Amino acid sequence: MKQKILIIEDEVSIADTVKYVLEQALFEVFCATTAGEGERLLRQQKPDLLVLDIGLPDMNGLDFYRELRHEFDLPVIFLTARSDEIDRIVGLELGADDYVSKPFSPRELAARVKTVLRRFVQSSREEPTIKRIAAFEWNEECRSISWHGEKLKLSRNEYALLSVLLSHPGRIYSRRQLMEIAWEEPEASMERTVDTHVKTIRAKLKAVCKEDPIVTHRGFGYSLS
Ligand code: CA
Repeated sequence: MKQKILIIEDEVSIADTVKYVLEQALFEVFCATTAGEGERLLRQQKPDLLVLDIGLPDMNGLDFYRELRHEFDLPVIFLTARSDEIDRIVGLELGADDYVSKPFSPRELAARVKTVLRRFVQSSREEPTIKRIAAFEWNEECRSISWHGEKLKLSRNEYALLSVLLSHPGRIYSRRQLMEIAWEEPEASMERTVDTHVKTIRAKLKAVCKEDPIVTHRGFGYSLS
């Protein structure tokens, strides 16, 4: 059976070229020009991979992805025309994801699609649901994090923020990055909100074990040690 690819892209000329090339590579391809139509096809066709434009007429592609990523377990390749969007995509880091900057060669995209699909199939076979990072146990499916064997009671934002840090131990995230990746409405929050959340997370960690795994980088932001 052919693997299914869904393309959500409002520029029909781009979508058509990509569709053509992917069909040549023996994929079954569906196209939507809006997030709304895309969501309908996502439910109906259950594609194996999503090619998602960020600048959609009815919704930002990243917000669309954020809303649906917990419901649909499929790899996504983002199409972006803006370099500032790339930071946010990289921050999403779900392992199987990728992005392509416009203008791009459709053949290159087809090659990426194959690579990402291969990697995704492998990782769903190999990776355990529970990730162990230092003294943390992170269960993404249950949205729960334990620290030194103790399950932490985290608010939604605390969970999201700690997940971002756990996804890349050692990587330093600025407050703005943390907010944009973790918050559902980053525009409505102040960067200081991040400090407040880190403080409450630290207090919860400290209640379990004195060691502090979160490092403050003065003038930059935070990382997991
Ligand atoms: Ca667009």
